[in-house]
Amino acid sequence: MKPKLRRRLRAVGRRLRELRMVAKGLLSTSHPIQVHIIPMRRCNLSCTYCNEYDDFSDPVSLEEMYRRVDKLAELGTGLITISGGETLLHPQLDDIIARIRKHGMLSGLITNGYLLTAKRIQQLNDAGLDHLQISIDNVMPDEVSKKSLKVLDKKLQLLREQADFHVNINSVIGAGVKDQWDAVTIGKRAVELGFSSTVGIIHDGTGQLRPLDDKAQAVFTEMKKLGKKGYARLNSFQDNIALGKPNNWRCRAGARYLYVCEDGLVHYCSQQRGYPGIPLAEYTVNDVRREFLTQKSCAPNCTISCVHQTSLVDFWRAPQKLESHTVFRAPAHSPQDPLWQRRSKRTPLIPHYYSFYYSFKIIWIPPAELWDFETRKPKRLLVKCQGMSAAGPSGQFGDQSICECSASLLECHHGRENFLLVLHD
Ligand code: SF4
Ligand code: SF4
Repeated sequence: MKPKLRRRLRAVGRRLRELRMVAKGLLSTSHPIQVHIIPMRRCNLSCTYCNEYDDFSDPVSLEEMYRRVDKLAELGTGLITISGGETLLHPQLDDIIARIRKHGMLSGLITNGYLLTAKRIQQLNDAGLDHLQISIDNVMPDEVSKKSLKVLDKKLQLLREQADFHVNINSVIGAGVKDQWDAVTIGKRAVELGFSSTVGIIHDGTGQLRPLDDKAQAVFTEMKKLGKKGYARLNSFQDNIALGKPNNWRCRAGARYLYVCEDGLVHYCSQQRGYPGIPLAEYTVNDVRREFLTQKSCAPNCTISCVHQTSLVDFWRAPQKLESHTVFRAPAHSPQDPLWQRRSKRTPLIPHYYSFYYSFKIIWIPPAELWDFETRKPKRLLVKCQGMSAAGPSGQFGDQSICECSASLLECHHGRENFLLVLHD
């Protein structure tokens, strides 16, 4: 079959499956529509605005990924997007995609594109990939990001020639790259190559809004003009974010959208890890129903547009009456569990103004004897963060700092290069 005809047929099939997913979402509220799943936290790059990667972790085993994909199919998921870290570093990525498709779900992939070759694109075609997103941040690589058009343009041309799947190019405004206007150049190039183009707006380490400066606002306005050509997908949610205004919406994270981390825990989203922090293997329709009705206190200033888009299907129904972030699951780990002590080889070095991004978060579940069931907090635990570097980026911390634990999330905002977390009572 001629490549053009094959692509057209696949696009029609994909569109039909997307329509089916939307119809199913309208008919029932008891299943996830979109799930981001992380088979690989390691990345081959180190963008300074990113808090979603490390440089040492191993891939999740294929058997475990199969179990997670099967479980998501059982929950009725419509679309699984594989994210990271850098997804193409996972040695059995194609098998994971094929498993998703075998269940009839749509499959998506987010990559920095560095490892794409003609052969790799063909393998992704064969696995049945539906959507691929590449993030490009600047025209020339700089100290903030190496995801530049200069490096990736050849990969984009390969994709145009070889890919049977839909390709979207995303760029982030406000990330601190040298020339913010680069986002427009990238958007125009995406349109020229026949891809769709989206723009993300930088958030802080909890997914919350960071106001755009005047130049970034101008870039955003220009991207909207590209949108009129029907390729750049911007919406009123992002309009408000760009203007620094809160949005009035119901975040259905934990229900219609799930973020499944490399440890197999379900979180609201990449920036609200720890809530609800329940193992996917134990996640049930009841969890989905509860989270559907749970208000998210972070919603007004949230910038996570994929969750917003997924939640749109339910904007007209089911007001959320349950209080935010109150989910508690019986403790499951003993003090011997490796989750109690974890050493990071490296967190990115960062300029002061980005220090919030280099916070470290670790998911842990305190054992019952250390848990206060009334306050829903650990009884007497603080965690000592022993930094190996002299000071955090703000320069105000010594060699050791005490970090607070709350619920199942431990956060360290000290931006250490190396650190060891030990429980301390
Ligand atoms: S933004 Fe993507 S490419 Fe950059 S460090 Fe994070 S995961 Fe890696
Ligand atoms: S509103 Fe929802 S998507 Fe946004 S940060 Fe909160 S939990 Fe995440």
